[in-house]
This record gives sequence, structure tokens and C-alpha cells, in this order.
Amino acid sequence: MSNKPKSDNVIEKLVSLAKRKGFVFQSSEIYGGLNGCWDYGPLGVELLNNIKQEWWKTMTYREDVEGLDASILMHPRVWEASGHVANFTDPMIDCKQCKARFRVDTLGEALNEKKKKKAFEALVETVKADADKQKALYEIFEIHAEFEDRFEAVLENDKIGVDLLSNINCPNCGTANSFTSPRKFNLMFKTFLGPVEQEGNVIYLRPETAQGIFVNFLNVQGASRQKLPFGIAQVGKAFRNEINTKNFLFRTREFEQMEMQYFVKPDEDQKHYEEWKERRINWFKSLGMTPEKLRFHDHPQDKLAHYAKAAVDIEYEFPFGWGEIEGIHNRTNFDLTQHEEFSGKSLKYYDEEAKEKFIPYIIETSAGASRSFMAFLVDSYYEEEVKGEMRTVLRLHPKLAPIKAAIFPLVNRDGMPETARKIEAELRPYLRVFYDDKGAVGRRYRRQDENGTPFCITVDTQTSEDNTVTVRERDSMEQERIAIDKLLLYLLEKLK
Ligand code: ATP
Repeated sequence: MSNKPKSDNVIEKLVSLAKRKGFVFQSSEIYGGLNGCWDYGPLGVELLNNIKQEWWKTMTYREDVEGLDASILMHPRVWEASGHVANFTDPMIDCKQCKARFRVDTLGEALNEKKKKKAFEALVETVKADADKQKALYEIFEIHAEFEDRFEAVLENDKIGVDLLSNINCPNCGTANSFTSPRKFNLMFKTFLGPVEQEGNVIYLRPETAQGIFVNFLNVQGASRQKLPFGIAQVGKAFRNEINTKNFLFRTREFEQMEMQYFVKPDEDQKHYEEWKERRINWFKSLGMTPEKLRFHDHPQDKLAHYAKAAVDIEYEFPFGWGEIEGIHNRTNFDLTQHEEFSGKSLKYYDEEAKEKFIPYIIETSAGASRSFMAFLVDSYYEEEVKGEMRTVLRLHPKLAPIKAAIFPLVNRDGMPETARKIEAELRPYLRVFYDDKGAVGRRYRRQDENGTPFCITVDTQTSEDNTVTVRERDSMEQERIAIDKLLLYLLEKLK
């Protein structure tokens, strides 16, 4: 029967499978690796491209969305206007004993339930002696119902965060009361434009793709003659100097985003926000992600970013817990207003019907391509027993699978390799296929199961009699006989 491996080692297994099969390698591995950076191998780059392509099709093969590819380096004033220079910071603490560094708001991820509960109970006792602190705690209780959310909110709180920290031992070395006070750390990578390394030439690697869209809002609108509501979509690299990188591809320093900014009339923001929420969660489901492992997580009012009126995360249940894979935000008119102010150029939209000018509101859908990659990989990973043997299989949606079909001659004689090569040549212009004649056919099936290949085509003795082959489907392992001249149509139909 099909069963998932235990959650505590599935990431380890995936990292190892990803390396062995050529999905993902550690960056600069021969030099010991570079923390928070990964390289996509032959199968990985196919999977990643397929995810991006499916996103691109869904988001831009629409009348009301245009595409864009803005440069990674942008004018430094962009990041002042956006608030990133001042606010794109994470609170950071160090352990004085072992020098390990942690992001305060996510420290809870490194602690087990029991330790967190104990530290929290001690905090509740300590604040009883101080009315101000008690009020701060009470306010957090009012806003957050879940323990995890309360824990995180207290850690980030100016008044009582340090009290909770003083009850937590360092997750790395176990020392009590060893943290420095929290300080802010800006996550943007800095570099210099041109040959002179001086303050005036500082520029940033973009920490999100969104700003390239905002500053091009009127360029795109003018060129495409779009009217509100309409969107601009972009896929591209983003860089964040994360304090802690972990969980494989979940939190990295270089990653790809798939973002769409939808420009709307101010009084229609809520309607579009709700619509995009549904469309986006359905996109993950339509590509086979287990619906029970997807959920919305609304940002409570006190945790909203400075620009947002409403925000929700689409979360996936990873083996290490629920984690955001996409954010949908009502950014109001904040971004365009800021860029108008900082650039001195009008970014108002002229509504011909109403004969008025105004700054549109923006509904943003912001997904991580690399995080989605990881979620699709985790979700598709199965270990199951088949006739007394274990098989590992990636049940990737056929649209996402790196290789669509593998072609095997049953044995390397009797004209079978020639026929198989002919089939390969016929399919290759349309589909990414793979030819394999090494080892027993059962072993070849298993290798393709691990690659997530949905179909295996085998040329056997019957082929020379009636021009048919067997097509074996990855998940059910059932085989069908298909005429060679119907094969391409059959596969294209299945891959729709
Ligand atoms: P987190 O709270 O996990 O740091 P965030 O709220 O800062 O994420 P956003 O700024 O909303 O994330 O970014 C949009 C999307 O970009 C996220 O949903 C995620 O898929 C992706 N993303 C953000 N940071 C990273 C990262 N360090 N590594 C990989 N993907 C990321």
C-alpha cells in the first residue's frame, strides 16, 4: 500500500534523492558549499521551468494580465521609496556562549513544544509583577488565539520579548540566559554600481520582484492600452540575506519569485483580493497538490506589513510544519504613492469614463518558485511496497514532470532497440523523452518512478507482430497496449 515515509526524515531523504537523481545540488559543493544557495540539476531545472511555465500560462494567458521582465538592479531610491532601506529588517540575536545567530521571530521553530510551553508559563508568572507588561501580554492574547502565534508575537514584542527570551536556552548549545538583546538586521544584499566602491554608488540586489512592476506601471499600461482592472506578472530572481537559512529550499538567500500585481479601482479592492485568493490556491490544487495540505493563514491586523490592508498566506504542510508558499496582499495605493513622491513623476491612472485621475490600489499575488518546487517535491514523494520490494516514486503532475515518457526496448536484440529509437525520434520534437536500455526492465521502471516520469513505453516481442507497445502508468503501474502510430496523440491527451 502507498504510504508516506515518517515526517522526521523525509527532508533528509528528499535532499539525498534530489542530489542522486540530479534535481538539486548544493551550490559550490566542491568548495564546501555556500549556505542558503542551491543549484538545479538536469531534472531540477526541468521541474522548476515547468512550474514557472504553468504559472506564466495561468497568469498571463488572460486578457487582463501583461508580462514583464524588469532588471534585478534598480535605482537605489526605489528601495527608499518602498520602505526596504528602513524597514526590511529582521530582529536578530546571538548566543553569547556559542555565537550561534537566530532570527527572533522564528526562534520558536528551533524549539520543541514542551520547551516553548515551559518558557511561556514562566513568562506569564514574571509579567504579573508589572502592570505595563501584563497589559502587553493581554493585548497579544486578545489578538491571537493559537499558542504558536502568541509565542511569536511575544518574542517580537518590545516590552515583553526579552522576558520570554530570558526563559529560553540557546537551541544550539543549551546555555541558559545567553542571548544578546535583539537588534535589527537589513536583509538586502548591497553592492556597488561602477568601479568606485563608495557610499554614493551603493545599489541593492532586489529582495522582491514587485518593485520592478510598480515603477513600470504606466509604461506597461500605456503600451498595452489596458484599463483597470489589469495586472502585470513577472518571474525572476530575488535575494535576501536571511539570518538563518534552513529546510533545504524553503528559506534560501537566492531564490525565484512569481509575482503578479493587479491594479484595481480603490473601492473594488476587497472583491479582487477575494477572487485572487481563490484562484491562487486552486492553481496549486490543479497541479495535483494534496488539498488537505493546503490552507489559508490570514495575517492578524497587528502583523500586517506597513503597506498592507489585508494579507493572507497560502500555506503548505511541510514535514517540519505549515509554511508559507505564497502571499496575497492588498497593498492599497501605498507603493505607487511612494514612488510618485520619491520620483516626482505622476503615477496616476486616468479613468476615461469617470474623467478622473487617481492612484490605483494593488492586489499582489507573490509566490516563491523555489518554495513551490520544494512543496511539489515533498507532496509527490511516496515510498510504497510493491510485491515485497520498496519503490520510491515522485507522483508529480504530468505537466510538471521533468521527463514525460521513457522508452525501453525489452531486450537489446530482435530489432527492439531500432524500433524503440524510432519511437524516441518521433516523440522527441514534442515531448521531453528519455531512452534507456540498461538493466532489467523492472529496474528501469523504478529509476523512472524516482524521476517522476508518468509514462514508460516498452517495445517487446509483440511489437513486431502488431506494431503496438506497452505504456505503463507510473502511479497505478497499469499497462496498456497502444498502437505506435497513436502514441503521440495518446500521450499529448494524457498530458493535457
Ligand atoms: P517569510 O516570512 O517566510 O520570510 P515573507 O513573508 O517574507 O516570507 P514574501 O515577502 O511575502 O515572504 O515573499 C513572497 C514569497 O517569496 C513567499 O511566499 C515565498 O514563497 C518566497 N520567499 C520569500 N523569502 C524566501 C526565501 N528566503 N527563500 C525562498 N523563498 C522565499
